[in-house]
Amino acid sequence: MQLTILGSGTAIPVAERFPAGYLLTFDGTTALVDCGPGVLRRFAQAGGSLHELDAVLLTHYHTDHCADLAALLFALRSPQFAGRKPMHLHGAPGLVRLVETLTVAWPWLQPRGYELVLHERTPGEFALGSATVRAIAIRHTAQSLGYRVTTAAGAIAFSGDADECDELVELARGVDTFVCDAATPDEQKLDGHLTPGLAAACAARAGVRRLVPTHFYPACDGRDLLAMARARFDGTIVLAADLLQLRIGTG
Ligand SMILES: [Zn+2]
Ligand SMILES: [Zn+2]
Repeated sequence: MQLTILGSGTAIPVAERFPAGYLLTFDGTTALVDCGPGVLRRFAQAGGSLHELDAVLLTHYHTDHCADLAALLFALRSPQFAGRKPMHLHGAPGLVRLVETLTVAWPWLQPRGYELVLHERTPGEFALGSATVRAIAIRHTAQSLGYRVTTAAGAIAFSGDADECDELVELARGVDTFVCDAATPDEQKLDGHLTPGLAAACAARAGVRRLVPTHFYPACDGRDLLAMARARFDGTIVLAADLLQLRIGTG
């Protein structure tokens, strides 16, 4: 399983970091976790093609995590994608309303030439290709989900935007790689988000092998985020960066 970080940034536009987006590939399946503005461009930069994309998993509906959904639905209507495989969208309840509302504003988002399948997910498990995905409610918005993706090769967990909660530890328990909100330096914690130190404390409690702090606001620029995380976690720490690729587990 391979992870490519497409966007390690936030709603605040900066040159080096796009908003949230993560590309997962395994056993012939290609999926995005979150799809913030610009993430489709990063997907292309990473060598991805919309021909390959099977699914998008949304952690929540803040715009920095899903604004490229409209761009995706419009792109997929292009004749070059006619007859492509179905596109599966997964997200908390509210997904159907979001897509319907976007389609009212932009009627040309209506699927044409392919099948769009919407899956409103509540906490629990579902299949994604050869993987099992576990969705867990996370403290951020009223409808925020973290995702844990497990294949024969290993497991990865995505916190989405997250504040401190026991569910995060459950989500990440024993995973190979934990991609976790670490929005601002330790002494500038924002409501609804974690810091490098808090993400690290969670990773330590969950016994993960590797922590990938991400979703960095500009307040993180020039700060020693690694030291903040290192103080509370002994495992491997890799700070997220756009287009960084990581192999998960054995495959
Ligand atoms: Zn966010
Ligand atoms: Zn958010």
